[in-house]
Amino acid sequence: MKIFNTLSRTKQEFIPLEENKVRMYVCGPTVYNFIHIGNARPMIVFDTVRRYFEYKGYDVNFVSNFTDVDDKIIKKALEEGVSSDEISKRYIAECKKDMEGMNIKPATKHPLATEEIGGMVEMIQKLIDKGFAYEKNGTVYYRTRKFEEYGKLSHKNLDDLRSGERSLLVTGEDEKEDALDFVLWKPKKEGEPYWESPWSDGRPGWHIECSVMSKKYLGEQIDIHAGGEDLVFPHHENEIAQSEAANGKEFSKYWMHNAFLNIDNRKMSKSLGNFRTVREISEQYDLQVLRFFMLSAHYRSPLNFSADLMEASKSGLERIVNAADHLKFLMGNAKNETMTETEKDSFAKTDAFVHGFEHAMEDDFNTADAAAAVFDLVKYANTNTDEESSEEYLKALFDRLVKLTDVLGLIVDKEEDILEEEIEKLIKERQAARKAKDFARADAIRDELLEKGIILKDTREGVQWKRA
Ligand SMILES: [Zn+2]
Repeated sequence: MKIFNTLSRTKQEFIPLEENKVRMYVCGPTVYNFIHIGNARPMIVFDTVRRYFEYKGYDVNFVSNFTDVDDKIIKKALEEGVSSDEISKRYIAECKKDMEGMNIKPATKHPLATEEIGGMVEMIQKLIDKGFAYEKNGTVYYRTRKFEEYGKLSHKNLDDLRSGERSLLVTGEDEKEDALDFVLWKPKKEGEPYWESPWSDGRPGWHIECSVMSKKYLGEQIDIHAGGEDLVFPHHENEIAQSEAANGKEFSKYWMHNAFLNIDNRKMSKSLGNFRTVREISEQYDLQVLRFFMLSAHYRSPLNFSADLMEASKSGLERIVNAADHLKFLMGNAKNETMTETEKDSFAKTDAFVHGFEHAMEDDFNTADAAAAVFDLVKYANTNTDEESSEEYLKALFDRLVKLTDVLGLIVDKEEDILEEEIEKLIKERQAARKAKDFARADAIRDELLEKGIILKDTREGVQWKRA
């Protein structure tokens, strides 16, 4: 399996630190509003990476944080006249709803920055003790010049950056030793949430959060650290400086970054008025469509969000779901149980699509090509099955389709959407409505069930149902 490593700027063979295990950290969102579709791209991409590792039999420890203390959260809290905690809790809950809609698996652990302050104070102290950090008037800065490899991830010319940054120095930070020194701890301002520390009552800088949470939940060394390409500098560069100075070990072996998402060929921004939240998209499309759209390009290529491309993804996804439905329909009506010799040969031919899929995914997670292999399988299944096909053959094709689409996080087996208990509950409700002569409600329930593929039949013995 090859992964493009931002650190080496080459595709490298993936070798895990520990056999059959992957330790992976993905920088999560700052929770002060609904997530936008730019936040959704890394979530979907790296969830797919995780799913592929799991498909290959790896045990994946996947950690992704929520940054729940930040200037933007504090600003929003002041605007609404509520606590920062209320804002962050609200948007973590909303973010989780969106993630569920996009079929993103919950992380093994979703740590919250505010619950890890103790570890941050500890790491900052360690950096001070080792000479990698210094305190000035209650603020602690990281001493970038002391970390010789600073800049190795972003491949930047630091002297150019330094001279550029000198003119852009943030007011109040002129006490820094070097323009590239960054904040590890800062004193509180009036009305801000704060924690006690040896240096001041205050709060941690953003970068130290990830170094600490990654260490706590994954250990000092991890396999993959990932995020959007806007995080390479300074966020990830600073994480490396902190973690490697504190732990004395290489932090992450592989660094993966997804490219930007544009909207109608323009950068997404509030000022351009083309800012889209996942929630807004969900009013127009099933979020499965958004997921499929995000995977229609390689993650390191810029992706353009447009109505046309979303429509194309929608119809593409429908083709896959329809093929799965068709196989299920045939299965339900199949006359023969076991595979014939011809069917065995026919099924063996679909090995090529699985190989195509895996080959694409092993090449730095080329989901666009992997999806093409799924379409090949769909086309094959559509043209090589009919009423004469055996149940075993149909099921084998169906299972293969589900297995591959599951790696992409696409749900094609909709049958599990409605459980037996729910059906029985709705039938009871319909009976009660009929008894109360609320026929409109009774009809609405029948239609609702029909939409989910459940057919009702009123008999003398009561209501019977079957799946369409
Ligand atoms: Zn981070």
